[in-house]
Amino acid sequence: MLQQRTIKSLTRAVGVGLHSGQRVELTLRPAQANTGIVFRRVDLPEPVDIPVNAEAVVDTRMASTLGKGDVRIHTVEHVMSACAGLGIDNLYIDVTAEEIPILDGSSASFVFLLQSAGIELQNAPKRFLRLLKPVEIRQGEGSNLKWARLDPYHGYKLRFEIDFAHPAVDSTGQMFEFDLGAGNYTRDIARARTFGFTKDVEMLRSNGLALGGGLDNAIVMDDYKVLNSDGLRYDDEFVKHKILDAMGDLYIVGYPLLAAYSAFRSGHGLNNLLLRELMQQRDAWDIVTFEHVREAPQGFAQAALAW
Ligand SMILES: [Zn+2]
Repeated sequence: MLQQRTIKSLTRAVGVGLHSGQRVELTLRPAQANTGIVFRRVDLPEPVDIPVNAEAVVDTRMASTLGKGDVRIHTVEHVMSACAGLGIDNLYIDVTAEEIPILDGSSASFVFLLQSAGIELQNAPKRFLRLLKPVEIRQGEGSNLKWARLDPYHGYKLRFEIDFAHPAVDSTGQMFEFDLGAGNYTRDIARARTFGFTKDVEMLRSNGLALGGGLDNAIVMDDYKVLNSDGLRYDDEFVKHKILDAMGDLYIVGYPLLAAYSAFRSGHGLNNLLLRELMQQRDAWDIVTFEHVREAPQGFAQAALAW
């Protein structure tokens, strides 16, 4: 059978929140089979658990924020992307503040933490959410059009297209397709950093956002060029980061997907609307397991060994 995964031992990191600028300690802990991914605020008088699910997303401006009552955890998408990319089913993610640390602005640091802890196979079948028919969300028209959709696919692939009128972005690849079964998440996606424009930074900071952001954890651009002295990590780092974000946003549904995701100018908000639409259309999906590894999509079993 294709098995669920957690990590072998607990692992820790300390960083700052991208938006709050606050120092935050992050601890990743093993979790029993069928637990799912659970975020926990450990700085409160009573710890509060927030298990991921589409309805737990309470804000999608600038980042994906989970909430329960008054309790918030901001910017969960990069650590969720690392979990999706490495196929981690069960994990506790403890934080001492209301934002996940940004670390280097990509998911590479989270991948490193998870791999250092070691991946543990668990004695329970890995459950997938399998698309049975297309689900789509569209917003706006003309130059404001954006959309995201899921189609049935025996595997998991993501195709993203961005459309920024900016010289530093236009000169890079604006469309990328990544297939989890054939590609290498750690090599091809995980290192892509978040990006922003200096002209937005002042506005964000006056609204109490991006306080922890800088050249150490983001690609920063003025009106013409990338300001980071080392340049880009990939020729098409911008669109690859959008795929990294989408993998994190979609994994909030609580299961790895068997689907083809495609999107044009989507973001955290539209990705979450797509998940909510998916949950509404109960006949558009089912939950499946693979008793025999050979029945799983190509690459998923090999990846299981390699991970
Ligand atoms: Zn991001």
